[in-house]
Amino acid sequence: MIKPNCSALQRNELITTLKSTNYDLLVIGGGITGAGIALDAALRGLKVALIEKNDFAWGTSSRSTKLIHGGLRYLKQLEVGIVMEVGKERAIVYGNAPHIVVPEKMLLPIIKNGSLGKRSTSLGLMVYDRLAGVKKTERRYMLNKQQTIGAEPLLNDTILKGGGMYYEYRSDDARLTIEIIKTAVEEGALCLNYIKCIDYLYENEKIVACKAKDVFTGEEFIINTKKVINATGPWVDTLRKKDNSLKGKHLQLTKGVHIVVPKEKLPIHQSVYFDVQDGRMIFAIPRQNIVYIGTTDTVYNQDINEPFATKEDVEYIIKATNYMFPTIKLAVDDVISSWSGLRPLIYEEGKSASELSRKDEIFISDSGLISIAGGKLTGYRKMAQRVVDVVCKDLAKVENRTFKACSTKNQQLSGGNLNGLSIKDFATQLHKDYNQFSTDEIETLIHKYGCNTNIILDHAIKSQQELLLAEAWYCINYELSFNINDFYIRRTGRLYFERPTIEENLEKVHEYFTNTLQTNHTIAEKAKEEFTKAYNLVLAFKN
Ligand code: FAD
Repeated sequence: MIKPNCSALQRNELITTLKSTNYDLLVIGGGITGAGIALDAALRGLKVALIEKNDFAWGTSSRSTKLIHGGLRYLKQLEVGIVMEVGKERAIVYGNAPHIVVPEKMLLPIIKNGSLGKRSTSLGLMVYDRLAGVKKTERRYMLNKQQTIGAEPLLNDTILKGGGMYYEYRSDDARLTIEIIKTAVEEGALCLNYIKCIDYLYENEKIVACKAKDVFTGEEFIINTKKVINATGPWVDTLRKKDNSLKGKHLQLTKGVHIVVPKEKLPIHQSVYFDVQDGRMIFAIPRQNIVYIGTTDTVYNQDINEPFATKEDVEYIIKATNYMFPTIKLAVDDVISSWSGLRPLIYEEGKSASELSRKDEIFISDSGLISIAGGKLTGYRKMAQRVVDVVCKDLAKVENRTFKACSTKNQQLSGGNLNGLSIKDFATQLHKDYNQFSTDEIETLIHKYGCNTNIILDHAIKSQQELLLAEAWYCINYELSFNINDFYIRRTGRLYFERPTIEENLEKVHEYFTNTLQTNHTIAEKAKEEFTKAYNLVLAFKN
């Protein structure tokens, strides 16, 4: 049996351990919800495993707006409890992973016939800050029309009345998920991707094990466990159905699309959260050389495994953007990438997609299957706390055991120890020891890998390897990455943020993965095909 670790080179040994251990808890689903649960459970002393049928964060957790935010718009829906909880969580997640959660100024333009007036915006933002316990330096301030134009000259001055400036936190959802997974593994959890739960085994009508399948080899095996949490986001009902327990409340999926355009097409100075004429609001968020804009919110009843942006989705976002920034004249052809995610929300009779609550809920079936759905990226830690409380309470009663209290609030995530420095200062400090690389190169890596960046730089020097391959080496050895899909989509976000330049090195990186992992030919070809499909799918609306 092997100690849990995140090396893709040790996959076989990890599977052997999965087969031969009797777990307290098996988590199904490696999105942010499952990752958070695995970490919380491991810290409390539970023997825990997590399986993911694709790559970690492959579902909704790599396709969100990538904000750690309190959800200002929920104030309009009077969901004060949610705003208060996730608002406070922002500061905690920022403290735990300062390399991937970055404070971001957000401008909220106030327009004629918009959804918010000057007074209500000022009051709303003040309440938002107070509910979320925002520190004084990051509290909102209001701007008059001239000041708003000064802050963002591209705004439509014929409809503008003023603005509110406040702080949100920009993140990288997939990287946050993988850092949580890595931390959970450091704390003793065994987490493995490309393992699918295909069935449950019962004794006295209670689940005692799961039948799992190795997605690469097709091998099926049993994982013994006392408790099972179904944290499969949009697939929660599929897994409840398998347990014959899909009764009462059920999911309503809604699709959200983001488009990516080059920064020169929309050269904004900060993130902007603006009104759409139908009463909704969307974000435009600058990041490196691009700006991403979204999202849509439409009821979704098609294939859960392959949501994509349609021409209609893209035109909706472009029309709204051109209305707010009339001189830019954005066109479908300007879009260089996109992504599309599904919100696993709880169905409520008579409510439209954007009116559905983002609150999370726990369902426990007669067989003991614990399912958790709804919620937000931002609130993952509290969701985990609630559901692990349920598991611990039950195990404590049945087995007369005691467990530690939830301690994720103060748990630094992997990569998060920047010695209290800003990312820039941390990069400058590293640069002193690694002056072969530019501070820009180092800073880009820190935004992804935080204080683990030096492992990549050391490897590049020792093996005289170019930085891109050293990054791939790190992802194989420390982040359970098996192919170019994992690397270009979830570990680095390059498919979304750098799509036009990916092709240059693609074959080289693919060969590096294949040679390092000695991937068999069929599996390697399949990975390549899947990448080509994903690469085309993000611009499928142009066809
Ligand atoms: P997922 O990330 O979908 O994870 C579930 C996983 O389960 C998947 O990876 C899947 O492969 C796996 N799985 C399924 N079946 C099986 C099986 N049989 N065996 C093994 N594994 C299985 N929240 C915020 O806080 N901030 C935002 O800015 C934000 N923006 C959003 C924008 C959009 C467009 C959307 C759609 C959501 C947004 N959210 C945001 C919400 C947030 O992204 C989701 O609440 C969160 O990512 C859901 O995570 P999850 O782990 O529950 O589901």
